[in-house]
Amino acid sequence: MVRVALVTGGMGGLGEAICIKMAALGYHVVTTYSPSNTKAHDWLQTMNNMGYGFKAYPCDVTDFDSAKACIEAVTKDIGPVDVLVNNAGITRDMTFKKMTKADWDAVIHTNLDSVFNMTKQVMDGMVERKWGRIINVSSVNGQKGAFGQTNYSAAKAGMHGFTKALALEVAKNGVTVNTISPGYIGTKMVTAIPQEILDSKILPQIPVSRLGKPEEIAGLVAYLASDEAAFLTGANISINGGQHMF
Ligand code: NDP
Repeated sequence: MVRVALVTGGMGGLGEAICIKMAALGYHVVTTYSPSNTKAHDWLQTMNNMGYGFKAYPCDVTDFDSAKACIEAVTKDIGPVDVLVNNAGITRDMTFKKMTKADWDAVIHTNLDSVFNMTKQVMDGMVERKWGRIINVSSVNGQKGAFGQTNYSAAKAGMHGFTKALALEVAKNGVTVNTISPGYIGTKMVTAIPQEILDSKILPQIPVSRLGKPEEIAGLVAYLASDEAAFLTGANISINGGQHMF
């Protein structure tokens, strides 16, 4: 039996690495992209020229109906989703003083409402089939807070509250729900930070003295998706080079 793994935002830095890892492990890999993403077709073609055989569907994760339509199409074309990786996310960093309602809403809708919108579409099926995995990609900044990220820290912390509550509800049904909280990983979300800030402010906070690699996050996601991880649920797993320990 080939399991279906759906990764939201699979065309981003972490998402792509997660898709590649899951494909290497033999999953049917499906990713979503924003309906406004004009480069999605090119990305898919490049990946499939490399032999990955990914499928990709448009989905605005902030929109419940778009999430519903996406999962219905995936289920019809490929099969029910066994592993959902809620990875899509954005930042709109600024101090609380400058933050507008629109900046708040955009980040909460994309990072947190998305988790409800997507998980809602797949959970009943997972419970019926007595097997499923929900993996929510949060952030170290949801654990410890970060200057200029009241919106992002709130959304990412909210993911873990959702994780713990839902994990309790579905534990008896073979479905696990977990959060992972990466530290700074070398994707465009982080490499967009000016090098002098990375060197002077960020790297000194990381005991392993480097940014994380997307492949390191993908390896953790793959483990959480596996049968071996059946006893691991409701957790928030830090993967941050020792930046934040508790
Ligand atoms: P990227 O910006 O590279 O990727 C983000 C993805 O989210 C994109 O593929 C984008 O799709 C998708 N996305 C954004 N808005 C929407 C939307 N409304 N509907 C559907 N998809 C959407 O970021 P990363 O790969 O770096 O980050 C992935 C996740 O990891 C995020 O949740 C982020 O918060 C988290 N994270 C990242 C860290 C890092 O250091 N990089 C550290 C900790 C957590 P599209 O391009 O099609 O719009």
